[in-house]
Amino acid sequence: MTSPIARISGFSGLAVLGLALAAPSGAQTADFILLHGRILTLDERSSVREAMAVSEGRISALGRSMDIMKLAGRKTRVVDLRGRTVVPGLIDSHIHAIRAALSYSVEVNWIGTSSLEEALGRIREAARRAKPGDWLIVAGGWTPEQFQEKRRPTQAELAAAAGDHPAYVQLFYGWALLTPAGFRALNIATDADVPPRGKLDLDASGNSTGGISGDTATITALFSRLPSPSFQQRVEGTRAFFRELNRLALTGVVDPGGFGMAPRDYQALFKVWQDKVLTLRVAYTVFAQKRGSELEDYRNLTQLLPMGMGDEMLRFNGIGENVAWGMYNNDSPSETDKAQFHGIAKWAAERGMSLNMHWHNDRSVGQLLDIFERVDKDAPIRGLRWTIAHLNDASAATLERMKALGVGWAVQDAMYFDGERFQKEKGAEAARRAPPLKTALRIGVNIGAGTDAHRVASYNPFVALRWMLDGKTVGGTPLRGPEETPTREEALRMYTLGSAWFAHEDDKRGSLVVGKLADLAVLSKDYMRAPLEDIGRIESLLTMVGGRVVYAAGPYARFEESPRR
Ligand SMILES: [Zn+2]
Repeated sequence: MTSPIARISGFSGLAVLGLALAAPSGAQTADFILLHGRILTLDERSSVREAMAVSEGRISALGRSMDIMKLAGRKTRVVDLRGRTVVPGLIDSHIHAIRAALSYSVEVNWIGTSSLEEALGRIREAARRAKPGDWLIVAGGWTPEQFQEKRRPTQAELAAAAGDHPAYVQLFYGWALLTPAGFRALNIATDADVPPRGKLDLDASGNSTGGISGDTATITALFSRLPSPSFQQRVEGTRAFFRELNRLALTGVVDPGGFGMAPRDYQALFKVWQDKVLTLRVAYTVFAQKRGSELEDYRNLTQLLPMGMGDEMLRFNGIGENVAWGMYNNDSPSETDKAQFHGIAKWAAERGMSLNMHWHNDRSVGQLLDIFERVDKDAPIRGLRWTIAHLNDASAATLERMKALGVGWAVQDAMYFDGERFQKEKGAEAARRAPPLKTALRIGVNIGAGTDAHRVASYNPFVALRWMLDGKTVGGTPLRGPEETPTREEALRMYTLGSAWFAHEDDKRGSLVVGKLADLAVLSKDYMRAPLEDIGRIESLLTMVGGRVVYAAGPYARFEESPRR
């Protein structure tokens, strides 16, 4: 068949043949052309291509630079990659991004700092910019292990950096440090003023040292006493946080909700989507908020929200990661808990809904899988892409059962931050195979990569990728062994195609092939060939979502399309 271009433009037959093969869709010129690079397509043959054309938001051709160049028209924007590596846009398959975004514009971030001095410097910097009386809040995302000093800040250090501002620094979900101004602002003087099960840390003479210790509920309740950002701040935070993720090559997230995430907490995201300034594809789920009325709440919330509702930027993706309170973080749920969970899971399966569930211990996950198997007999769940998130000590037997049910595994780099504790609890042998990425690959379970950010962990996908490849904690302790360590390409596939699967979109994104959405990132270093220890420091120089440049820096800064605010 003759390409229409041949007749119109009168190109030589040979050139047109090359062109037609590269661009079967034909006559239009490209909006973007990327040349002279190393494009890791992650197609079935793991092809590396030199050049790519993007038209109307999709990849329209791949091939040699000289052939692709012929698709350039007068308005085509040409990106000279100069040998740089291009990857499919990264997708975090389990990140509390919607929640993290709400307060991003009013928080101080300690992610990526390597000393306490540097971290406190960020507090000092924020204090300089803040209005009198403004809180300075670090809402997690750090650990003393990342600091040269290997310790937490003291109250005196925090107060010196914060000046007159009330300040709050949270460590995981077990501890928070407040300045004296913070204690005054929250009216906390004794243990009685602290949320349930929480206690003031005391020194030898019984004086408060500024810390408050407690469990997840304590710290969540304490955090909720801090002033919450205005709607405008939430919208700004959402845009700024998603752009920060774009800076790190992310083009999509699968968001599992979170405690305290009420419908009103999704309104900033919806506003950004409606304004058509969303720079990250979001697949979100409904998380059970109220114990006892889980099913009733799902029924109400989803009557006008069928599975898959939305568009390519924002899509409803089912229920979880708390499906029912009775089985959340519970190794020995009662028969009633299990019956309730079964009722909800069956309801979801009958509606073709995805379900994702948080689970930590292999020794108890059989109770969850028993329910999945029972549901599957009445209403098949294969094809619904149900998910188990976390489960770092998954056994081969568990992974086999997941594979048989078509249940995917969302893996995060929790062990990077918390690996020493895992090793202490479960032993060095268990830590050597946690998480068992190679075993899961062999069995054929779909694996998505991610971070679980941000109260607990950093959202940086390159830190997670490096950890997937070297198994070392933030403190440098090597834990996972080579027998469970994937190759660089396998890890990248988990962070792209693997994660896209959970959003039911691996046929639309996650690899760079003709016809797929143009979601990609040009990297600052060659992910495949850079020294392992440099992988955690990679950033994007240009990130594209659906053919739109959402982030550009350095040599590509001029490609930035919509200047921020
Ligand atoms: Zn979880």
